[in-house]
Amino acid sequence: MNHSRLSNIKTKADDLAKLSMDKHLRLAVTGLSGAGKTAFITSLVNQLLLGAENHQLPLWKLAREHGFLGAKRSPQPHLHLASFDYQGGLAALQSQPPSWPKPTHGVSEIRLKLRYKPQSVIWRKLSHTANLTLDIVDYPGEWLLDLPLLNMNYQQWCEHINTGLQDSRKAKLAEHWQQQAAHLDVNATANETQVADIAAAYTQYLHDCKSQLGMHHIQPGRFVLPAELAGAPVLAFFPIQPDLASTKVQVKNSNLALLTERFEYYKEHVVKRFYQQHFIKFDRQIVLVDCLSPLNNGHDSFCDMQLAINQILHSFNYGQSSLLRRLFSPKIDKLLFAASKADHVTPEQHTRLVSLLSEVVADGKRHVKFEGIDTETMALASIKATQAGTAKLNGVNIAAIKGILQSDQTTQKTTMLFPGEVPNRLPKQQFWQNQGFEFSPFQPPACSPYTALPHIRLDQAIEFLLGDKFR
Ligand code: GDP
Repeated sequence: MNHSRLSNIKTKADDLAKLSMDKHLRLAVTGLSGAGKTAFITSLVNQLLLGAENHQLPLWKLAREHGFLGAKRSPQPHLHLASFDYQGGLAALQSQPPSWPKPTHGVSEIRLKLRYKPQSVIWRKLSHTANLTLDIVDYPGEWLLDLPLLNMNYQQWCEHINTGLQDSRKAKLAEHWQQQAAHLDVNATANETQVADIAAAYTQYLHDCKSQLGMHHIQPGRFVLPAELAGAPVLAFFPIQPDLASTKVQVKNSNLALLTERFEYYKEHVVKRFYQQHFIKFDRQIVLVDCLSPLNNGHDSFCDMQLAINQILHSFNYGQSSLLRRLFSPKIDKLLFAASKADHVTPEQHTRLVSLLSEVVADGKRHVKFEGIDTETMALASIKATQAGTAKLNGVNIAAIKGILQSDQTTQKTTMLFPGEVPNRLPKQQFWQNQGFEFSPFQPPACSPYTALPHIRLDQAIEFLLGDKFR
């Protein structure tokens, strides 16, 4: 065989190897607002970009065995999507005093190219290095709460919301919106201004449920996190008395016709579009759950969070007969449930936190597993803001945590506290009666541009979510 033919074959083999060694993965990060998505992505990107010099990732096999060569940012693939503001987040963390990255409110993405030494012997023979293109996508979990709307017509939705108002606290907050809605003549010619005003009152009611009752289970989800749809007429509708909402006896061009039309448009162009444009393209997902704030906020807030998380998990239950499979066919093969902000409790409480989260997601997880999706549950802190220590209580040494509370930002005073015991099961009535759980937000740690952000078990999350891709 002559020399040029040989080198031709070699180039072709190299090209082939290169092709198969360049992998791609789309990782979605979700959770209810405040769960820690922004902090998680900022820290994940930071750990990967500081890569080879970063010695903080022992639970990630590739890094432990020195197979991770580094990462760099690449232009994001979807030019119409917001970019995840990594630089802004880092600047906030490196400011004096440090502050938490500003949370995102819609879909945003960031792309990294990871270079590594393949772990499998066969691949290593073909090529010394390989690349993984990693797209990290952030989206609000609240948007998945809209999935059940696809199975309802306008009247059924009105009934559903009306049933929720049996809760007297919600009914109280709903008074203003309901008084306004009572003046609407549903059969009169559509009055866009009146409809917009009542929709604004309904949106305010949803915000009040969130801020005053600590509720997350809000429908429609886009009303409180509208992103690019803020002010659009598709968000100007609201539920009315179910007996007035019959879709069968509708006067043309009436207020009722307008409300029904907007509800249907919302389902078609907002809810379905999110699944079609984004959800079906995710390969893996992490669902972050803040179990600690609801423990602090009380029984109703905790139950609401549990309801919302399990509702979110319906989006991962796409068996043959499910609505999702019929409409979209998603392809997620790994799903991680992570209890976030684990640095708010002492290390020996982490196992309890994981047990608690396992109970919170138990219902939804059963279906997810049935679909053959690989799942895992863990407790992590994306950015560790406290140190573990001991404190003396009545002459006895107890485990405690210390850090600078957000409320002490001006004095920068360090506080040592025992946050209380995390229940390892769903809390019973007695827990809420004797509740002694103290959850106070901490200031993030002082950060340097040269060292990776401190964390708890972010490397374990990387191993679960990406580990098999490097073989
Ligand atoms: P998002 O709305 O899901 O994006 O939530 P963020 O990432 O903005 O987090 C909300 C807040 O939770 C932050 O401002 C922090 O106060 C806190 N937080 C998030 N992650 C951590 C963490 O790992 N440790 C601690 N101590 N606090 C965290």
